[in-house]
Amino acid sequence: MWDADHVSTTEHHDVIVVGGGTAGCVTAARLAEAGVAVLLIEAGPDDSDRDEVLQVRRWLELLGGELDWDYTIAPQPRGNSAIRHSRARVLGGCSSHNSCIAFVPPDADFSAWAAAGAVGWGPDDVAPFFSRVLERVPLRRVSEENPVNASVIEACAAVGLPPTVLGEGDWFHPGAGPFRLNVVDGLRQSASVAYLRGGTPAARPEVRCNTQVHGLVLEGTDVVGVRTSEGVLGADHVVVAAGAFGSPQLLQLAGIGPADDLRGVGIDPLVDLPGVGSNLQDHPEGVVIWSTRRPVPEPIVQEWEVGIFANVHDDPHGPDLMFHLGLVPFDGHTAAYGYPTSPHGVSLTPNVCRARSRGTVRVRSPHPGDVPAIDFAYFTDPEGYDESVMVAGVELAREIMAQDRVADWIDVELAPGAATTDRSAISDYVRRTANTVYHPVGTCAIGTDPSAGAVVRPDLSVYGLSGLSVADTSVFPLIPSVNPALTAMMVGERCAAELTR
Ligand SMILES: Cc1cc2nc3c(=O)[nH]c(=O)nc-3n(C[C@H](O)[C@H](O)[C@H](O)COP(=O)(O)OP(=O)(O)OC[C@H]3O[C@@H](n4cnc5c(N)ncnc54)[C@H](O)[C@@H]3O)c2cc1C
Repeated sequence: MWDADHVSTTEHHDVIVVGGGTAGCVTAARLAEAGVAVLLIEAGPDDSDRDEVLQVRRWLELLGGELDWDYTIAPQPRGNSAIRHSRARVLGGCSSHNSCIAFVPPDADFSAWAAAGAVGWGPDDVAPFFSRVLERVPLRRVSEENPVNASVIEACAAVGLPPTVLGEGDWFHPGAGPFRLNVVDGLRQSASVAYLRGGTPAARPEVRCNTQVHGLVLEGTDVVGVRTSEGVLGADHVVVAAGAFGSPQLLQLAGIGPADDLRGVGIDPLVDLPGVGSNLQDHPEGVVIWSTRRPVPEPIVQEWEVGIFANVHDDPHGPDLMFHLGLVPFDGHTAAYGYPTSPHGVSLTPNVCRARSRGTVRVRSPHPGDVPAIDFAYFTDPEGYDESVMVAGVELAREIMAQDRVADWIDVELAPGAATTDRSAISDYVRRTANTVYHPVGTCAIGTDPSAGAVVRPDLSVYGLSGLSVADTSVFPLIPSVNPALTAMMVGERCAAELTR
């Protein structure tokens, strides 16, 4: 623990935002625009001169590279232990290396948030903050020029999933269509591009890259600064925006978390908050791969341009199964099991929109350099819901690709292969080779009852402390049905608004 003496000799800011990622850039930018003296601290480098970051077509090159925290996960008894959880370590965070699929989640998701205890985060409450995001982040719909994309959309119509303008109006029904992307002329419109360098605001935040925050500085339960790789910095308020793994890690290192677990790794508990690092959720993603009869024409923007939504359990909430259509054989996890691949092919990746399995992020020691233990507990929900959606997804993927509309393209099913028809064999395949859509959320959830797992109040301040907020995907109480980057930005907008109220 660090006392105030360490702080008094150092520079001081109104607000320090820890993590120059998707939500952190938004929070810092909006605070600066409101006249707050804010410092944004990012562990990774600046993104502004990096072609491999700015050109969205190159996103896959970034995974596992020098700009990736590249987390391993705990052994998964019912899932794929080989998954590497990519998290960007560069200004803009994951919005600087994601595939830029842009969704405002359906209203039903935020009704569920409010019902889960995120009071004041219902559909009407979040709408103005999404509007602010969309004023700043330009979106473009992918054209349907690619003939494979167009054929698959037609095949979906033949199985009862009509062409849909994803993301517009009352769109959240079974259907298929091209995505909207936060990409203009091939360049990603990340949080750093759109918020730190975009617009013409009167003021910009001070940004410090290549600086890792190792801990919070506390006076009792008042957060008064941060300890960084470059020294100790003081602040009236600290916003932790280090992502769904990094934020619970920083809180736990400061003694904020499940008290018994903290004691077990040699950390004196300061505030017993059982929800810190609990409630970890994700979109698990399976894959079905086909070779194609000839090379697939080049994508318009990037290899994942079409989304398909289905409702296999007739859930009144809306679709429970989503596919991304890949114009490539997405064979990273199937090749490891010896499934064949092809120089040209396509993939349908079923994912569980509102997965029910819950995992944990737990520090292993008091040392900030130790990577936390991340256990998604994939496919462990007691009702077997996640597994059932995934198996139905493999079956529906096959039905789509059996349609005449795609017969001109589709050749052989490479993985799991046409011989795998038994549901338990499909389940075994899809769980063993599952990947992630890279959407971890929920580890510092908004709520009203800390004893029931809430970590932050509806205004994003942390229970039991003063001078500390969290703003990133960790505050989502429930995983949205769709890709979450715009929702992370919405949280950033909301956090800045709360702090300048
Ligand atoms: C490969 C990939 C593809 C994806 N594709 C999409 C997509 O197409 N559409 C979509 O909506 N979502 C997508 N996502 C998910 C989405 O991008 C993320 O959920 C979202 O951007 C996370 O935002 P965040 O603010 O919570 O965290 P991040 O954006 O990860 O920001 C956290 C930041 O904090 C920094 N940091 C962490 N610890 C420290 C520390 N101790 N000190 C200083 N800095 C620190 C990190 O370096 C990082 O920059 C994808 C994610 C990945 C990984």
